[in-house]
Amino acid sequence: MGRYTGPVCKICRREGMQLFLKGDRCFMAKCPVQTGRPPPGMHGQRRRKLSDYGQQLREKQRLRRMYGMQEGAFRNFFERALRRRGVTGEALLQMLEMRLDTVVHRLGFAPSRRAARQFVLHGHVRVNGHKADIPSMILKAGSVVEVRPKEDSREYAKPFIENQLARGIAPWLSLNKDEFRGEVLHVPTRDEIAPIVNEQRVVELYSK
Ligand code: SF4
Repeated sequence: MGRYTGPVCKICRREGMQLFLKGDRCFMAKCPVQTGRPPPGMHGQRRRKLSDYGQQLREKQRLRRMYGMQEGAFRNFFERALRRRGVTGEALLQMLEMRLDTVVHRLGFAPSRRAARQFVLHGHVRVNGHKADIPSMILKAGSVVEVRPKEDSREYAKPFIENQLARGIAPWLSLNKDEFRGEVLHVPTRDEIAPIVNEQRVVELYSK
């Protein structure tokens, strides 16, 4: 199945929560989830009680869609998290957060994860001084991410960096806005990771 290219707010309405897929608009009062628009479709307003499996599936879909990943890639991430030491759910979230496209978005180099993915794919970003164009690359503590020193790349990123600074930079990242450079200070702890999902339900689903 191809990548979803339809209206992204519909995804949030379907999941019944803000997944922050649209950049600055997500922080405005006109966000459809904030204004209480019901889930899409004819039966969107009908509330069904979810089975245990249904709840696990919903949590997985929320997390997967929040990071804009396709099922196969997401499952692959889970398998890798399973092989890591510690709590699998937390390891999964840490890996998702340390993806290059997520870090580029969190540093404010692009307005949304989807835009960050494109920004990376088009070669506007460097990691530790080298060109990096793989959005799913997982960074490490100490990795330095910067917008390449080209006028078009930096002009693009500039307004989004200001917006991100106004909202605050994640505590596990540092940003030098004049240098268009950020650093991963440490692997984020569960408390420092934004997703409001129950990752344990995702682990249960995939462990069946
Ligand atoms: Fe749309 Fe963003 Fe609101 Fe989601 S959080 S419904 S993407 S404005």
